[in-house]
Order: sequence, then structure tokens, then C-alpha cells
Amino acid sequence: MSPSNTNGSIDTPPRAPSPVHNFGTLAVHAGSPHDPTTGAVIESISLSTTFAQTGVGKPLGAYEYTRSSNPNRDNFEQAVAALEHAKFALAFSSGSATTATILQSLAQGSHVVSVSDVYGGTHRYFTKVARAHGVQVTFSPSIEIDVAELIRPDETKLIWIESPSNPTLSLVDIRTVATIAHQHGIMVVVDNTFLSPYIQNPLDHGADIVIHSVTKYINGHSDVLMGAAAFNSEDIKDHLTFFQNAIGAVPSAFDCWLAHRGLKTLHLRAREASRNAHLIATALASSPHTLLVNYPGLPSHPHYAIALIQHRAGLGGGMLSFRIKGGPEAAEKFCQSCNIFTLAESLGGVESLCEVPSSMTHAGIPREQREAAGVFDDLVRMSCGIEDGEDLKKDVLQALERAVVWPKVNGKLALNGHA
Ligand SMILES: *Cc1c(COP(=O)(O)O)cnc(C)c1O
Repeated sequence: MSPSNTNGSIDTPPRAPSPVHNFGTLAVHAGSPHDPTTGAVIESISLSTTFAQTGVGKPLGAYEYTRSSNPNRDNFEQAVAALEHAKFALAFSSGSATTATILQSLAQGSHVVSVSDVYGGTHRYFTKVARAHGVQVTFSPSIEIDVAELIRPDETKLIWIESPSNPTLSLVDIRTVATIAHQHGIMVVVDNTFLSPYIQNPLDHGADIVIHSVTKYINGHSDVLMGAAAFNSEDIKDHLTFFQNAIGAVPSAFDCWLAHRGLKTLHLRAREASRNAHLIATALASSPHTLLVNYPGLPSHPHYAIALIQHRAGLGGGMLSFRIKGGPEAAEKFCQSCNIFTLAESLGGVESLCEVPSSMTHAGIPREQREAAGVFDDLVRMSCGIEDGEDLKKDVLQALERAVVWPKVNGKLALNGHA
């Protein structure tokens, strides 16, 4: 699978041609041809599962059977490729199916090095599923430093990065890791779900494959479950296309159509969500009710220098997390006290969400490992939507008061009552 040359080192991945147009133009137009027969500006939804052939093995057009390829999926894949500065993209039925397909494409006995604080479902797949088919994963909390040491000659095939990580928003210097990986003929995958291609394009920093849970920012409206992978190498394309078809975890034509519609406004949504998150992170950082704020768009973030290199205009994205004073009770009370932020898992939609990772998205990770990665019981994760920023800020500040200040005052009153 890895496009390595005879001496084992990986060739510089071929690059997609520089796009002629800027992001917003590509988002609206890439993979969106007018219908050649009706002139329809918006593609129709191609529900047919099979396509007529003029002779045996001679399909009329480009399509045979919808699992292998479908017009709506093709168009969506083209759009994702354009936004990720990739030559190719493949769509899957979920972000998790994307991860599973990549991991299953590795030979038995392969070894993977991954950042520690990965998405909970990715951690579950790595530790509970990949192992069953003979793929081992080693986790590292500081992959830039450890990677050379963790690479096993001939066994390590893949490095897995999430930047920013979930839910602590720490960043990984993709170029540093990719340079070391490529010296050993190892591929680098970056899960770019948290930033979306508007803010970060990992292939430009040396990654070989970029993946997304399309469910989040790319679709952006919390109504489609989907995933995608994008890359430049023809070998990777052939290899993963085979597994996409053989495993069959593909999205429906309707979901491709919906996600493509969502993608057309990605730049507007990602910009606004990032602006809102910056506003809220700044307010949280100056609040006396918080212990720590994780937001890569703040100069105080330990990896801000990486954000300036890897993120468009140093933007921090729409996700942030913070530790609240008052422990897990305050964290829960905070989420329940928000009026605009909805207490729910997931992220990247137009509506703002909040959650407590230790008992929701990351509950499956043992406490010791969780806390080593900074996921304490009092950590609240927020996905900032595109509502009015001032309204969101007010909502967060009033919820902090309710969660941290009121219980203290009430607690004192109760004690006085007893005395
Ligand atoms: C949600 C998510 C996934 C999994 O995607 P699904 O579409 O839910 O299967 C993977 N990585 C990250 C960072 C995610 O947020």
C-alpha cells in the first residue's frame, strides 16, 4: 500500500495540481457539473442501484453497480478532493467506516503508532477490533518526540495523527512526524475532522491520507452520518478503492447529495464557528470559574506556533474545551444550564453543543489513560455553532454563574441553617 521505492523510503507524495480557484469557489463548484441533458444547476439524486449495459461487460456510461460507484458519490468525492488539495477522495458510510477500511487494508502483523488522545471510537477500534485481525497499535502522548523510537522496523506501516486532538485540542506538528515516517517508508494519516479542510489541509504538510468524519463540519447540519478520505497517490487510490468496494461501507446517494449541499457553505460556517469559539474561549480564559481553557486559536495555547503554520490565518476552529471549578457536578450543571448550547455528543453543526467527555464521548477509555491525556471529570467540551456570537457568550457566562457560584452560595446557606 505504501508508495515506497526500493530503498524503503517513501517517495515525496505526488501533489495535486495547484487549484486555480480559492476555497469558496471550489466549495460551491467542485464536483457540481450542470446536468448535460436538462441543464439543471443542482444534480439529481441517482437512486438507481444498477446501470444498463449495451453488451456483456459494456456499461452504457461510467457506472455498473452503486456500491462500486455512483454519480452522487463521485461528485461529492471530487468536491472533497478539491477542498483537501488532493487528487483523489473516497467517501464512506461513516468516519468510523473510513478508519476501519484504512486499518483493514493493512496486512496482518502490521503495527500502527497513534497519538494518545484520539476520538473515542477510533481508540475503541484500535484497541478492540484492529487487534482481532492482527494489527497492533501503540499510543504516544508526545508523538513528535517518541515516533522514531516507537517505529518497529518492517512492522510499522502507519502513523495516526489527530490534530487538534479530541477533546483537549492539542496540536501535532504534522511535518515533523511525516518527515520521520517517510524516512522509514511509513504512511501518515491525519484525522482532520475537528478543523475541516477550510482551516487545515494536512496533505500540504506532508500527510499521505487525510480523513474526515463528514458527519461533523463538512456536512455541517447534524443530519448525515458519513466519512471521507483524501490523498494524492495513485497506489493508495487503487488500494483503498478496492477495500471501499470489497468491504462495502459506502454512503447512500441521498446522503452524498445532502453532504455535498452542506459542503458548499463550509467556508462560511467554519469561519463563523471559529470566530464564535475565539470569542467564547477568550471569555472563559478570563473567568474566575475556570481552571484551564484549551483553544488553539489563543496565543496562550502551548501549540499556538503550530496553529500559525498549519491553520488558515492561525484560526483555532470551532471546538474548545475547559476545566470548570467545582468538579464533575459543576461540569454537568454547566451543560444543563446552557440555554443555546445543547447538551449532546457530536460537533461541527450549525447549532452549538456541549458535553462532558469523561462520562460521554470518552467514557470508554479507562480513567488512568483518560486523565494522562488531560481528560478530567471536570472537562467540558464545546462545539461552537454559527448562532450570534454575543448571544453564545452571554449563554456561557450565565451558565458558569449557575454552575459554580450558585451552588457555593446555596451550600453556605444550607450549612448556616444546620448551625
Ligand atoms: C465523529 C468522529 C469520528 C467518527 O466519525 P463517525 O462519522 O461518527 O463514524 C472520527 N474522528 C473524529 C475526530 C470524530 O469527531
